[in-house]
Amino acid sequence: MQQPDLSYILNHLGEEDRARHRGAVSPPVYQSSIFAFDTVAAMRAGFGDELDTTLYTRGNNPTVEILRKKLAALEGAEDALLFGSGAAAIAAGVMAGLHAGDHVVCVQKPYSWTRSLIRDFLGRFGVSHSFVDARETSAIEAALMPQTRLIVLESPNTMTYEQQDLAAVATLARARGIRTLLDNSYATPLNQRAIALGIDLVAHSATKYLNGHSDVVAGVLCGSKALIREVFEGPYMTLGAMLSPHDAWLMIRGLRTLPIRMQQIAATTQAVIAFLQAHPKVERIWYPHDPADPQHALSARQTRGASGLLSFTIRCDSTLAIERFCDALQRFLMTVSWGGYESLLFPVAAVYPPATKVAEPRAGTVPVNLVRLSIGLEEADVLIADLAQALDRV
Ligand SMILES: *Cc1c(COP(=O)(O)O)cnc(C)c1O
Repeated sequence: MQQPDLSYILNHLGEEDRARHRGAVSPPVYQSSIFAFDTVAAMRAGFGDELDTTLYTRGNNPTVEILRKKLAALEGAEDALLFGSGAAAIAAGVMAGLHAGDHVVCVQKPYSWTRSLIRDFLGRFGVSHSFVDARETSAIEAALMPQTRLIVLESPNTMTYEQQDLAAVATLARARGIRTLLDNSYATPLNQRAIALGIDLVAHSATKYLNGHSDVVAGVLCGSKALIREVFEGPYMTLGAMLSPHDAWLMIRGLRTLPIRMQQIAATTQAVIAFLQAHPKVERIWYPHDPADPQHALSARQTRGASGLLSFTIRCDSTLAIERFCDALQRFLMTVSWGGYESLLFPVAAVYPPATKVAEPRAGTVPVNLVRLSIGLEEADVLIADLAQALDRV
């Protein structure tokens, strides 16, 4: 498959007609909820196609449309829709084609709110589900039922990085008329192009790498023109979880540097992992691009570059030791989310009571002594020195 012209997509696509804006290099923010028509005939045409004209900003907006074009092109998709969060993008993509009586298959450890959507929310509307450990495609196949309409994938996920063989799952699903949706937030469109592998809908939490500056919550859903129109006329317009023009403008700006951010982050992450691997207090590392990862052959085949999200467990008996480590870090901010310019830390221990005993985790759960790092744009030496002094407190 031909590589997209990244520079064109990021610097120009959707912005070519600069004369409309007196030559402005950075596109204006169309901070307008409504767009007026000169004639009844023009207004009638606007009602006929709210997705591709500008009538009302809940449907389409010129600033948001620039971003739509860029993200669709990055994913190799025909079209895209922007949402006010990644959770909204996933919910819209999941709900668009489902009816009472349908069944959904989902990976065992999806993002927490994807799990809630499928397990708690859709159940109220008569949609059943199965969560499966989908590292082997055969496990998905075994879970399919005559009423299965959708397979929800997340490859890799963002705590322990399990992957699915996307081409194999897409082939299996297409043969049975089942739709596939992938949460591609971890890999970004640069490192994993799922539409080309046969996946129907690709969602991102654009809050993470795509925006990359920890200042916008946003989501995107990419797919064929027909599927995107189905989502638009269904959950997109009815639930109204659109992205504001100003946030779209910030995201256009954040997106411009995606390739260089990802390059820098991948290189720094390599150095951090090499340090952790050699450290006696580190028990195990989770990183899909590490040759030691059990699914490394799949990431080597299915993805191109690497990301900066990794997890590791610390050798200890109680989460008190984890707390000493985390509290001592100076250059990693302790919080949720990931994918920004700044390095972050998320200790699983924070969702358990203090001084929880560290034991073998149950299958399908995340170890209590696991710490997740999101590597940002700092110098590798700075981050490694910080990790070294904090590991001394364990
Ligand atoms: C953060 C995240 C989401 C949700 O995105 P929001 O923008 O926070 O709504 C979905 N999937 C993954 C993998 C995430 O990390």
